[in-house]
Amino acid sequence: MTDKVSALPVSKLTAVKGMNDLLPPDSSAVEWFESKVRGLMARFAYRNIRTPIVERTPLFVRGLGEVTDIVEKEMYCFEDRLNGDPLTLRPEATAGVVRAALEHSLLYDGGKRLYYMGPMFRHERPQKGRYRQFDQIGAEALGFPGAEVDAELILMATALWAEIGLTDVRLEINSLGQPSERLAHRKALVAYFEQHMEALDEDARRRLYSNPLRILDTKNPLMQGLVNEAPKLLDFLGEASLLHFNTLRSILEVNGVAYTVNPRLVRGMDYYNLSVFEFTTDRLGSQGTVCAGGRYDYLFEQLGGKPTPAVGWALGVDRVLELAKTAGHVVNASLLDAYAVVTDVSAMPLVLSTLQSLRNVGVSVQMHTSSVDGMGSMKSQFKRADNSGARYALIFGHDEILAGNVTIKPLRDISAPQVTRPLASLAAWAPTLQSNI
Ligand code: ATP
Ligand code: MG
Repeated sequence: MTDKVSALPVSKLTAVKGMNDLLPPDSSAVEWFESKVRGLMARFAYRNIRTPIVERTPLFVRGLGEVTDIVEKEMYCFEDRLNGDPLTLRPEATAGVVRAALEHSLLYDGGKRLYYMGPMFRHERPQKGRYRQFDQIGAEALGFPGAEVDAELILMATALWAEIGLTDVRLEINSLGQPSERLAHRKALVAYFEQHMEALDEDARRRLYSNPLRILDTKNPLMQGLVNEAPKLLDFLGEASLLHFNTLRSILEVNGVAYTVNPRLVRGMDYYNLSVFEFTTDRLGSQGTVCAGGRYDYLFEQLGGKPTPAVGWALGVDRVLELAKTAGHVVNASLLDAYAVVTDVSAMPLVLSTLQSLRNVGVSVQMHTSSVDGMGSMKSQFKRADNSGARYALIFGHDEILAGNVTIKPLRDISAPQVTRPLASLAAWAPTLQSNI
């Protein structure tokens, strides 16, 4: 350690602003959600991919586009301490997934359906639902050109909301068309904004020629009227793009997925074309987008690969879970089946081997631990058993130990009887301790 590090006052050793500790019981909610996602992904045949958290900076500059909020001001960049290579903490994972797909020729035998979960880093102004380190879960379908895959991804997200009990998530969709169509629209857009220079804010003026489409994404309330009246990209789409968009729409309609077409939906990243979509809610204030995605058929080329169609989405884990909470949906923490109450330290070898057998058959059990004065009073042990949330106390008392038994006392259902069971027939009664969630 350098002198500088050791000289840091202890009081300063707090987490970095915007980067939060995830503690129990909140961490159980995240685990619960992640396990739901894993099940869902398996049912849709999406497989897990894990790419590094650190990537070379040019990956994001080339992948996301230079004139984006992320690349302009949100990335955590640093140099490799040995060779000075520019490196960045990933602000999103799509670019890394595509890099990995290229690096390992993942698509040599056809398209791949992938998903990831993990932390992303953006130097934003921290507030509720907006952090500097935040978890995203994303799904990417690489190598599939058809609108049915865009639909599959949207149906998958919709199934996820249903599975965790979210009802008020709205879907907005749009088509960004193809580059030539965007160019024609862009010309019309620039001409329109040039006629209204006085109404443009500083950000919009700066982007007028570099990325006018992004002006439509403005959050400035004073400019909403102006952007509402701006030329719409949908009016510039050719036949193929329209067909793609309409195919997506009809699949959603046949499946009863409600959506609205939002012609101003453009997404923050440059790499999107054709379908773009967002799931939003009114319940989270201004941080209302819980999941967003779209098609990015040009990203592979932009990163040096062969033209490869691709589509995906990413959801913000914090926002989805916050929504699950505000919707009054109880997120199940992982419940404890049993708590072992032990009168005498000398019984510990037997207690530990019994608990081991219980855990081997799937029972979750916490044991009471000794202090310097021994095991503590029965009263205090039962208090702990109660606080642990366990549904049963397993009592290893003198009489039980002598007789080779254990007493099972229900802690939640007080009308249920207390029973004594022989340790020798553990396999027969252990399953009755398990909760079925
Ligand atoms: P926003 O417009 O809210 O900044 P974005 O367009 O930057 O979102 P994406 O890059 O599309 O967001 O990321 C997908 C999802 O990840 C978002 O819809 C949101 O739920 C979540 N997300 C994005 N940035 C943050 C953040 N700083 N903190 C927490 N969640 C975030
Ligand atoms: Mg953002």
